[in-house]
Amino acid sequence: MSADTATPTRCISNWPEKLGVQSVLVVGAGFAGAVYARTLAEHGLRVDVIDRRPHIAGNAYDETMPTGVRVHRYGPHLFHTNMKPVVDWVSRFGCFLPYEHRVEALLPDERHAPLPINRTTVNLVFGVSLQTEAEVQAYLARLAIPSAAPRNAAEHLNSRIGTTLTDLFLRPYTKKMWELDLEELDAAVVKRIPLRFDDEDRYFPDDAYQVLPARGYTALFANILDHDNIKVSLDTSFNHSLIQGYRHCFNSMAIDEYFGGIFGPLPYRSIRFQHRDEPVTYGRGTTSVVNFTDDRPYTRETDWSRLPGHGVGMFAKTITLEQPCDYRDNHLERYYPVKTSDGRNDTVYRKYLERAAAERSMTFIGRCGTYQYLDMHQVINQSLTGAQAWLKEAV
Ligand SMILES: Cc1cc2nc3c(=O)[nH]c(=O)nc-3n(C[C@H](O)[C@H](O)[C@H](O)COP(=O)(O)OP(=O)(O)OC[C@H]3O[C@@H](n4cnc5c(N)ncnc54)[C@H](O)[C@@H]3O)c2cc1C
Repeated sequence: MSADTATPTRCISNWPEKLGVQSVLVVGAGFAGAVYARTLAEHGLRVDVIDRRPHIAGNAYDETMPTGVRVHRYGPHLFHTNMKPVVDWVSRFGCFLPYEHRVEALLPDERHAPLPINRTTVNLVFGVSLQTEAEVQAYLARLAIPSAAPRNAAEHLNSRIGTTLTDLFLRPYTKKMWELDLEELDAAVVKRIPLRFDDEDRYFPDDAYQVLPARGYTALFANILDHDNIKVSLDTSFNHSLIQGYRHCFNSMAIDEYFGGIFGPLPYRSIRFQHRDEPVTYGRGTTSVVNFTDDRPYTRETDWSRLPGHGVGMFAKTITLEQPCDYRDNHLERYYPVKTSDGRNDTVYRKYLERAAAERSMTFIGRCGTYQYLDMHQVINQSLTGAQAWLKEAV
C-alpha cells in the first residue's frame, strides 16, 4: 500500500469490548478527532473513530493524482505555527519538509503583486518608490481613514490601508469568498490578514515552524491512528444510537446538525475545487498560490508542483481552481463559519453551546463542533489540552 492511500481498515464490528466502561467514541477523523483518539488511546482507553467520508485526515486529506502530483483534496494546507509542543507532537508521526509559503495577487490589469501587502505591493499599485518602512507607514497613514472602533471589515481595512488598496485587494475577493460586502463582514475575519511595511513576502513570516509533511497528510494521519487501542470505521455517519455504551463521545461534527437544527442553521462557506492538467511548463506567476482579486468567480489557483515533495515523478501538472459557494450548494461540505459584523450567527451558536452543556457525556471539538475558523496547529493544540484536561477529570 502506498503512503498516500494507507488508511486504517480495522472496523468497529470487530471490537469485542465495545460496551466496556473505558471505551470512547470519536466522531471525525480530522485533526481534532485524531489527536483526541491518539491521546486517549495512549492512556489506555479504547477508542472507536468514525468518519462519514471514505478517508481519514478530514480536510487535510491528500492524494496522488494521475499526473503524479500530490493534491490536497480540500485546498492547500500549509502547516505553520509557533507552538513547539504541537510541532513536537506531530513530529512523532512523520518527517517534515521546510516550506515557506508565498502568495501573489493577480490584479485586474494582469500584473502580479505580493500578498500580504508589503512595500513592493504599495510601490507597484501607486507607482511610487518608497524606500523604507517608515516611508511606507507614513504613506499608508495618509491613505487611511481613521476609525477608533471599527464596526466591520471595511472600517478596519480602511483605517489601516485606505480605500484604494481595500477595494482592489479585498472588495471583490470578499464578495466572492463570503457572499458578503466588507461592511457586513466581522472585522475579526480580516484582522488575520497581515500587513508589512518592508519587503517581507512570506505569508507566515512570524511563525518559527513552516513545514509540510514529507509523505503527505494522509500518511501522517495513518501513523497517528495506528494504535492497538484505536479502531477506525470510514463511511460511517454519526447517529444518536451509536453513543450507547460509550463512556464519552468527542464529536467534531457540526453542532447544529447534531441538534437537528433546532435553533436554526449555522451557515458556512464552502468551496468547489476544479482540477485540471497542464503541461509541466505551465506557470502563472512565481508562487504555488495565486489569488484572483477581480470579480471572476474563482478566488485562487494552486500549482501543487511548487510545494516541496508534491511533484515528484510528475509527467504533467495538476492545477486547482477554487470557487466559493454556500455549503448547501456543495453537499453540506462545511469549510468556513460565516462571521457577520452583527454577530447573528454567533448568537445562534451560543444557543447550541448552552444546550450542549446539558449533554454531560458529549464534548464538541474541532472547527465545526465549536463553530470557529481554526488552523491545524490551533486544532491540534486545543485537542491535546482538551484531551489531557478530560483525562485528569474523568479517568
Ligand atoms: C480550504 C481550506 C484550506 C485550509 N488551509 C489551511 C492551511 O493552509 N493551514 C492550516 O493550518 N489550516 C488550514 N485549514 C484549516 C484546517 O482544515 C482545519 O484546521 C482542520 O481541518 C480542522 O480539523 P477538524 O478535525 O476540526 O475538522 P475536519 O478536518 O473537517 O474533520 C472533521 C471530520 O468529521 C467528519 N464528520 C463530520 N460530520 C460527521 C458525521 N455526522 N458523522 C461522521 N463524521 C463526520 C468529516 O467527514 C471530517 O472528516 C484550511 C481549511 C480549509 C477548508
